[in-house]
Amino acid sequence: MHKHNTALGVATTLRPALPVTLIRPHAAARAARFFVEKFPGLAMYAVKANPSPDLLKVLWENGITHYDVASIAEVRLVRATLPQAKLCFMHPVKSPEAITEAYFEHGVRTFSLDTHDELEKIVEATQNATDLTLCVRMRVSSAHSKLSLASKFGVSLDEAPALLLAVRQAADALGVCFHVGSQAMAPAAYSEAMELVRAAIVQAGVTVDVVDVGGGFPSVYPGMEPAPIEAYFDVIHRAYESLPISYSAELWGEPGRALCAEYASVLVRVEKRKGDVLYINDGAYGSLFDAAHVDWRFPVSLVRDEESTTKPMDFSFYGPTCDDLDYMAGPFALPADIQAGDYVEIGMLGAYGAAMRTQFNGFGNGETVIVTDEPMASLYVPAPAPRATVTALKKK
Ligand SMILES: *Cc1c(COP(=O)(O)O)cnc(C)c1O
Repeated sequence: MHKHNTALGVATTLRPALPVTLIRPHAAARAARFFVEKFPGLAMYAVKANPSPDLLKVLWENGITHYDVASIAEVRLVRATLPQAKLCFMHPVKSPEAITEAYFEHGVRTFSLDTHDELEKIVEATQNATDLTLCVRMRVSSAHSKLSLASKFGVSLDEAPALLLAVRQAADALGVCFHVGSQAMAPAAYSEAMELVRAAIVQAGVTVDVVDVGGGFPSVYPGMEPAPIEAYFDVIHRAYESLPISYSAELWGEPGRALCAEYASVLVRVEKRKGDVLYINDGAYGSLFDAAHVDWRFPVSLVRDEESTTKPMDFSFYGPTCDDLDYMAGPFALPADIQAGDYVEIGMLGAYGAAMRTQFNGFGNGETVIVTDEPMASLYVPAPAPRATVTALKKK
């Protein structure tokens, strides 16, 4: 794989006609070490955020040993890439074939579920295995999050106690899990969810071995600057410590976005400009799915030999396909003199960006190169220390 210092180095040496994925292994390594050192439990990586084998290896080398997989293809991929990894199949609706293959061929012992039917399915597909860790997925609010995960999965508090009791009978270890929605902007999302977990455990009167707080840990995007990630960890730690569970119980988390958002950006070329609309060579069917479909705003920066001296103005983007839906409203602030042939780096696409690329309409094949500079934003690089001001010194 090519290695460059910056997006500008890539643009000037390669003059790429296709979008280029710029990866920053050092940023993913830093995120992994941060979670390994500071998350008050076991952090497993949610593979769907970005299943790239290169990324999986970086996370593994930096201490991430457990992987949250949701399909049999993800099970096979992680098993082939990281033979020693522990895999947890955390999709509450699985096919019996997927469960059987995961259990018997890939050593998966942990599964999630949210119905009695799924419990029966797991027990049958594993031939009454006695070594299962089964996590009951509870339905919790997505009110603090930018992307809801509240409607599709999860058992309600009313129905959770009966399911917990049934799972307790069948499982070697019993877990409770939830997902507060992706890009949770307030740590309180987790303490509120933990209150539901508490109520369910108390009502069921069961012993719980695992509490899994799921994903939702945020990254930094324009207009979305979350509290420091340590604040999330503190809230989770405190809520966990106050649950009615034994000392031997374990706390798990399933970060996806927070571990990989900083890992990748994309270098695109402007093919045409019409007023305040730029036609670029990546889009809704490429790595900009969220920019098109949920109006997600990613940071952008003009990549040009000589910096522009014109003021920024707001642009929207059209992607390369023939489809009207291939439109990213933004707004994306770029220098007013930007024109066809210019390159733009779109940042923070390591999570749910690079992973979403399709071949639709013949677009989507581009190179991947390593860059060594810092991502366009970071949760893990401390802000520079504030400098003492002149007035403060004078007062003394
Ligand atoms: C998507 C998903 C995750 C990761 O969510 P992020 O918001 O990316 O952290 C974790 N667990 C489950 C069950 C998921 O579906």
